[in-house]
Amino acid sequence: MTSLKDEVLSRRTFAIISHPDAGKTTLTEQLLLFGGAIRAAGTVKGKKSGKFATSDWMEIEKQRGISVTSSVMQFEYDGKRVNILDTPGHQDFSEDTYRTLMAVDSAVMIIDAAKGIEEQTLKLFKVCRMRGIPIFTFINKLDRQGKTPLELLAELEEVLGIESYPMNWPIGMGKEFLGIYDRFHNRIEQFRVEEDHRFIPLNEEGEIDGDSPIKQSGLYEQALEEILLLNEAGNEFSNERIANGTLSPVFFGSALTNFGVQTFLETYLQFAPSPQPRNSDAGVINPADENFTGFVFKIQANMNPAHRDRIAFVRICSGQFDRGMNVTLSRTGKSMKLSQSTQFLADDRSTVNTAVSGDIIGLYDTGTYQIGDTITSGKQLLNYEKLPQFTPELFVKVSAKNVMKQKHFHKGVHQLVQEGAIQLYKTYRMEDYILGAVGQLQFEVFVHRMKNEYNSDVIMEPIGSKIPRWIDENQVKESLSSSRSLLVKDRFDKPLFLFENDFALRWFQDKNPDIKLTNPME
Ligand code: GDP
Repeated sequence: MTSLKDEVLSRRTFAIISHPDAGKTTLTEQLLLFGGAIRAAGTVKGKKSGKFATSDWMEIEKQRGISVTSSVMQFEYDGKRVNILDTPGHQDFSEDTYRTLMAVDSAVMIIDAAKGIEEQTLKLFKVCRMRGIPIFTFINKLDRQGKTPLELLAELEEVLGIESYPMNWPIGMGKEFLGIYDRFHNRIEQFRVEEDHRFIPLNEEGEIDGDSPIKQSGLYEQALEEILLLNEAGNEFSNERIANGTLSPVFFGSALTNFGVQTFLETYLQFAPSPQPRNSDAGVINPADENFTGFVFKIQANMNPAHRDRIAFVRICSGQFDRGMNVTLSRTGKSMKLSQSTQFLADDRSTVNTAVSGDIIGLYDTGTYQIGDTITSGKQLLNYEKLPQFTPELFVKVSAKNVMKQKHFHKGVHQLVQEGAIQLYKTYRMEDYILGAVGQLQFEVFVHRMKNEYNSDVIMEPIGSKIPRWIDENQVKESLSSSRSLLVKDRFDKPLFLFENDFALRWFQDKNPDIKLTNPME
């Protein structure tokens, strides 16, 4: 039997951060193919057909005997056990997307070579940087004409403020894409060339010895020149800086044509960290510690009204999970048995009953858990660091349709807010309820759950996107509240303004220079 320590060392848990259409689904699918987790391309695609298509995934799982729930995908490669946590985008973007990044040990950032850094990538990147986790960059769609590689690197530095180290470098692009110059393996990997001839080794000078058709191309010469430039003026490779998230290794490739993906995967597995120690209020907890500990980073409500249950996703931070084990919920001190009610996400649910640090387990939940909760099998109760609150961008006014049912309405709102499904604000005098979210989906889920779980129909009045900025309690002046700078309280009664836009914010700041506006996320 492998020791707990070795098991933990084999784990690689990451999320993909990208903007819709950059190629996350395509790349994920290729990775699962390499891992033998799926047999045919197109499997992961199904995910997009329905909004809450978890059941489709369950169906796929049953058919193929693997785990591809919409939340966690697991496969084995090169002796490593890889967990990919899904970060829903598009309409499904929500606070859960951000929170998922709290549960990973590294991130893979996919960038469309033609588009460069896009909005959603930037938002997710900021969360990763805040955590200081390693970020690996995959620049995708090299089979199409895009920005030049030098432009793309400059964008990484200017827009994201992260330094990069290209592990490989494209030779040509689009119709003239010949392959990649692999600096790390000192070889050239040719595009659309039979497996047997795909790799050309390079000599000590980093050039091709002897004859090769690729040498005839001016693009090869150009790539050599650019590599020379990188060697002389670029960043140095540093394992340490990759590990602390200040240097991103960059890979070029094309997910759709499955080019450069395997090279990426193998190199990624070599440098990506296994689960790291985590801070708690009882000190730093080592992933190979005997006691089982974990925290809830996401709660997913079942959208099917026939099933009111929810699933609490737990990231294991130490020890080993065994079906049927007893744990204590630190917040309440309550003990419970994680038994039949446990849904385990692994490659074969029927036989695998254990999981270790780095893995994710899904617990059936009837209202026991809250986001951020810590559970432990040890005697000493502990809490992992609080999950950050992410700044909402979209806001609606909400009220009960039926004034006779205020009680249900208030109960529902407060429970969903406490669970972390949505943010709540109140206006000063009227105590109107305003909800804040980072994505439209959160409002939809809110309406659905209010009706199904609390029997409360709600009226929602969108008030658009706002910029929230907190102020000091001593500086609250209700006269400063207007439609363009609405003064509200958050659920901890902390005052803040919701500014209509950037302009309103700056105008306010000009007029009231003594008022300090803060955003806890920045
Ligand atoms: P996601 O929204 O990030 O999951 O993106 P998808 O994986 O669904 O890809 C979006 C579109 O880009 C699809 O039409 C893909 O076929 C296409 N695509 C993905 N990777 C590549 C690539 O390497 N080259 C080209 N030309 N198209 C790609």
